[in-house]
Amino acid sequence: MMGDAAPLPFPTSLCHGCAAPPRYVKTKTATFILCPLLERKYPPQPVLRCPLFVPRSV
Ligand code: SF4
Repeated sequence: MMGDAAPLPFPTSLCHGCAAPPRYVKTKTATFILCPLLERKYPPQPVLRCPLFVPRSV
């Protein structure tokens, strides 16, 4: 069983592995990725390059 969790949006986005860390903001119809570091908060997704990206250690 996979549970009820919706798959994360934009699987190729760097944000998912970023130490920032991003927050997932869910509405009834979609999940948005909120970056705590960028002034614009919601960068166009998928983010494939980001000067503030730091890999999250597990
Ligand atoms: S710093 Fe860059 S890679 Fe990290 S969450 Fe923000 S936009 Fe995504």
